[in-house]
Amino acid sequence: MASIFSRIIAGEIPCYKVGEDDRFFAFLDINPLAKGHTLVVPKCEVDYLFDLDDETLAGMTLFAKSIAAKIKATTGCKKVAMVVLGLEVAHAHIHLIPMNTENDVDFRKEKLKLTPDEFSEIAAELSK
Ligand code: AMP
Repeated sequence: MASIFSRIIAGEIPCYKVGEDDRFFAFLDINPLAKGHTLVVPKCEVDYLFDLDDETLAGMTLFAKSIAAKIKATTGCKKVAMVVLGLEVAHAHIHLIPMNTENDVDFRKEKLKLTPDEFSEIAAELSK
């Protein structure tokens, strides 16, 4: 069965899209730690990030870099953290999280509750 992220990429499940190219896709995390928290995924479905072939892993990092630049410019954060967990969804993904302090990337923190309008507004800003 296709992963939830493959179904998002295929347009079967809605998302707040931030960007895509022929190999990668970026969309807002639905349970964000901060406004602008984005997930970057490969369009090919591989569970574990480090099982990706070298070229795909390198390309994904460069794609994430371009998205991170937009997150930084849009949110004005100090840095964008790049975090890989992957225990919940078995489709390799990178979390990009606007960060001003280390506490901003503590996944035990309560997540933000954003309205659909807020998500749409952030996604629109990031996809410019
Ligand atoms: P992890 O596998 O531990 O990196 O966690 C998966 C992440 O995917 C979590 O932060 C979820 O909030 C996020 N997530 C799961 N389903 C969706 C979805 N349909 N749209 C956006 N983000 C999602």
